[in-house]
Amino acid sequence: MEFQKSKRLEPLKYDIRGPVYEKALELESQGYKVINLNIGNPAPFGFDAPDEIVHDIIMNIRNAQGYSDSRGLFPARKAVMHYTQTLGIPNVEINDIFIGNGVSELILLSMQALLNPGDEILVPSPDYPLWTTSVALSGGKPVHYVCDEAADWNPDLDDLESKITPRTRGLVLINPNNPTGAVYDREVLERIARIAETHGLIIFSDEIYDKILYDGAVHYPMATLVHDTLCVTFGGLSKNYRAAGFRGGWMILSGAKQYAKSYIEGILFLASMRLCANVPTQFAIQTALGGYQSIKDLVLPTGRLHKQMTLVYERLTAIPGLSCVRPKGALYLFPKIDLTQFDFKNDEQFVFDLLSEHKVLVVAGTGFNYFRDDHFRIVFLPTAEELHLAMNKFEAFFEAHRVP
Ligand code: PLP
Repeated sequence: MEFQKSKRLEPLKYDIRGPVYEKALELESQGYKVINLNIGNPAPFGFDAPDEIVHDIIMNIRNAQGYSDSRGLFPARKAVMHYTQTLGIPNVEINDIFIGNGVSELILLSMQALLNPGDEILVPSPDYPLWTTSVALSGGKPVHYVCDEAADWNPDLDDLESKITPRTRGLVLINPNNPTGAVYDREVLERIARIAETHGLIIFSDEIYDKILYDGAVHYPMATLVHDTLCVTFGGLSKNYRAAGFRGGWMILSGAKQYAKSYIEGILFLASMRLCANVPTQFAIQTALGGYQSIKDLVLPTGRLHKQMTLVYERLTAIPGLSCVRPKGALYLFPKIDLTQFDFKNDEQFVFDLLSEHKVLVVAGTGFNYFRDDHFRIVFLPTAEELHLAMNKFEAFFEAHRVP
């Protein structure tokens, strides 16, 4: 007897924890030390969550024994609502906020509540791959629009607009961006808002890195620029507050909600089916948003995140054959490899060989649904010492594979 996985899963992939990651685990089980530069999980690298968040969860653990409202605890939602006011997002009420087990759960829920078979969602290429898989798993068709490396990875608006069809229901923005580190210009966002309004598309704006900004980059919340269509904004504790394991995120509905009554009913239906998000973490949201924003210290030029981003950027771009747009936000670099200079054939082979030969794990660009096969994503969260070690290994790897 053979139990087969669902056919719905066959075309889907999630390479951040895919086959190469499994190979890394196998190497570790054989006693090798692998340098993991594959995942944006700050806490294990000494980027601790603020003490006051941890304290709140501990103090409230007894109060958190029961289910909460399906949308989330009132004080947590009130805190998110207050946050939208400080950002200047108009027209958000308490019931427009949904708390989830991380943004991940809410991304899937937002797609499942909306899509009918064949409905299309515009997703950036490269993307955070959960977006593509969530669209497909919900029966929709992900259609990728290009983000242009030559334009600091800003979305190519001509390409985006050319891909709109009568089946297009919405478009996804990831800003600040994973994997490219781009932070979009206000003008680009304004133009996207007008495109969405003209074509009646919902905007899904993933802003989970909205406080992780370098060198004076400014983040414009998309919802402040959208008036005549629905805007769904995603945020959470995992990155800004280094609490990825607590699984806390939120989704904010704003803009022209009057056009979305049925969709919002669908969201509430799915939120109710899963009863509620984990309650202990919800107790930390008010303190996280209202407390001291220690992430700001980490992204200053003197802060650990900024220093490590600069270290990896400078050392990687010093390797002949590698180039990279310097990140303005988030936790990643997305360098390009000039494949004509090396003996491996594409990003996947590069990632596999780097792991086999040097026990360093990164993720291939095609794992982010990038249409070219000559990029990879690298995380700069380990200590500076470990990153230097990794960069030495990169140098050795590229020298050994350089074609004469
Ligand atoms: N969105 C983006 C762009 C991400 O990079 C991630 C995690 O890496 C998520 C969403 C998922 O976050 P969460 O931990 O809140 O589920």
